[in-house]
Amino acid sequence: MEAEIIAVGSEMLASDRLDTNSLYLTGELNNLGIEVVRKSVIGDDRDRLAGAVRDALSRSQILIVSGGLGPTEDDVTREAVAQALQRKLIYSEEIAEALEKRFAQARRKMAEVNRRQAFVIEGAEVLPNDRGTAPGLWLEEPGAVAMLLPGPPHEIKAMFERQCLPRLARIAPRFAIRTLSLRVAGMGESDLDELIAPVYKKYTNPVTTILAGNGEIQVHFRARCATPEEAEALLAEVAAPVELLLGDRVFSRNGDSVEAVVGGLLRKANATLAVAESCTGGMLGERVTSVPGSSAYFKGGFITYTEAMKIEMLGVSPETIERFGAVSRETAEAMAAGARRRTDATYGIAITGVAGPDAAAGPNGAVVAPGTVYIAVADASGTHISHRQFLGERQRVRIFSSALALDALRKRILGRE
Ligand code: AMP
Ligand code: MG
Repeated sequence: MEAEIIAVGSEMLASDRLDTNSLYLTGELNNLGIEVVRKSVIGDDRDRLAGAVRDALSRSQILIVSGGLGPTEDDVTREAVAQALQRKLIYSEEIAEALEKRFAQARRKMAEVNRRQAFVIEGAEVLPNDRGTAPGLWLEEPGAVAMLLPGPPHEIKAMFERQCLPRLARIAPRFAIRTLSLRVAGMGESDLDELIAPVYKKYTNPVTTILAGNGEIQVHFRARCATPEEAEALLAEVAAPVELLLGDRVFSRNGDSVEAVVGGLLRKANATLAVAESCTGGMLGERVTSVPGSSAYFKGGFITYTEAMKIEMLGVSPETIERFGAVSRETAEAMAAGARRRTDATYGIAITGVAGPDAAAGPNGAVVAPGTVYIAVADASGTHISHRQFLGERQRVRIFSSALALDALRKRILGRE
């Protein structure tokens, strides 16, 4: 069974508003085993919307239209759908009275335009709205159903849950959808695909999607079967060999971020952490502390941007900086050791690099290219240092650096690095 969603509103065709209702609706439909095959955004234009509704109902069994049910002239959904289905609009005294009552309860006089919301498409079932004034409509056509729902997110959610889900559950075939998402660090997108494509390419179900960004890759699997058990089994059949190939580069399989995973590991080991940051300017500390409960293991951090601060706050020796430069293996090592020593933490992480876009001056007239980053993870047994030459703009270099630092710590705690 296939569904389409149309979001109505000219504001979502401008540069400042996004259609988020369809994300919620897609999740709910998927839970019923209904696939969303097409989404569109249509401005407040009656003819265009009528055309889109006709097209959607000729292709798909389920159509959800969100928005445009308000009282004002630009709310054209009722008229457009009536036009598309060649049905009449009928004034409902009952809805008009309910609207008047709602306004009376709020001690406000109802404006005349609100009567527009009392029009019902011939043959439709009215879906009450207990969060707002616009009622929804449920329509049945040969081979298809359509729902007209209000635009405000809290209204559409309540109405969909209470009114549409029970009706849909009656007509949806019994399909089950199960998903799994692996989050992977320390690998490029093409290398990863080369490694795992031989496994997943053999299957069209589950559908495999690879998403790269922010210094990690997510591999999503989505299985659709007659029963939940079959979907689980199919998911495992594909995901298990993929996980085996990726090994400990997979840092989470339940959606957890790398900072949450690292937090869990630190907690389990009863260990603590301190950070020393140069080019990330606090981003690493921000990520660590975005995890609820991080005060159990995070001691604090040092944002040491200048050489003087690296010397003063972390005890990096001036000779190290002079000889090797502020962006070097040696300085990263001394920063991590200093953060650890000065806070008495189990682990110290340091990031020093050139975020760019300009190159930086190194020791003895050398030039350090933008994107050059050193990351050090120190513990009682020593320091592990990674060096990367990241590509791209400043913010990307900083995000990738913080992601790599967290993953380096993860590997260190697991004894892999
Ligand atoms: P409407 O029902 O078209 O009058 O929309 C009322 C308000 O709901 C709009 O101003 C938006 O803020 C919000 N809205 C409408 N459609 C959507 C959508 N698809 N996703 C998120 N918000 C929406
Ligand atoms: Mg609107």
